[in-house]
Amino acid sequence: MPEVPVSAALATARRRLADALAQAGRGVDDARLLAVSKTKPAALIRQAYRNGQRDFGENYLQEALDKQRELTDLDAIVWHFIGPLQSNKTRAVAENFHWVHSIDRARIARRLSEQRPAALGPLNVCLQVNVSGEASKSGVSPAELEALALEVARLPNLRLRGLMTIPAPAEGLVAQRRPLAELRRLKERLAERQPSLELDTLSMGMSDDLEAAVHEGATLVRLGTAIFGARAGH
Ligand SMILES: *Cc1c(COP(=O)(O)O)cnc(C)c1O
Repeated sequence: MPEVPVSAALATARRRLADALAQAGRGVDDARLLAVSKTKPAALIRQAYRNGQRDFGENYLQEALDKQRELTDLDAIVWHFIGPLQSNKTRAVAENFHWVHSIDRARIARRLSEQRPAALGPLNVCLQVNVSGEASKSGVSPAELEALALEVARLPNLRLRGLMTIPAPAEGLVAQRRPLAELRRLKERLAERQPSLELDTLSMGMSDDLEAAVHEGATLVRLGTAIFGARAGH
């Protein structure tokens, strides 16, 4: 069990988001919380759901599928896959999630589109961008972003919603805002050059840099620790 009950942590996180939006001069509904539940039991997801949370993010496929099986009664839940995605996992992701945030290759996107069951409607996707330029991080490079976006936008069973990033950890608002500002500019430039894309999502901001992300226009902030407490494994 987390030290703080999920209901209280969620209330604090909502207040934090509301304060950050107000400070940034944005509307109360301009960003929403994605609760990152990786490594946390289904019971905590259920608690958050009971307190009004609907969007949940998972990183590890098998763990996510196990929890989804326990939570089939939560019919308004929205599942986001936010972890690294290999080819052999695309079918299960296409069949069991509403969103994928971590697309960084055309091959993965093509498989997801081919494997998406028609009855579920298009899969919402974000392109993960490597803004910090670290060789070890996944994500498409800014230079290759536009070509990937155009290819993904053509796939019939995907709906390209926007961009996502996981910047290198940084201390302080100024350092934190730099890579997040870059993602915002990349989205703006892409939207300018390709107006047909209709991008409405900037998936950025985690427990440590929510304020910086909201200042830079985040629309979906991915909070794990702040809602469910510290993680043990992984
Ligand atoms: C784990 C994770 C998060 C949540 O991180 P916290 O620091 O616990 O809020 C957000 N996004 C991704 C992609 C993650 O893997």
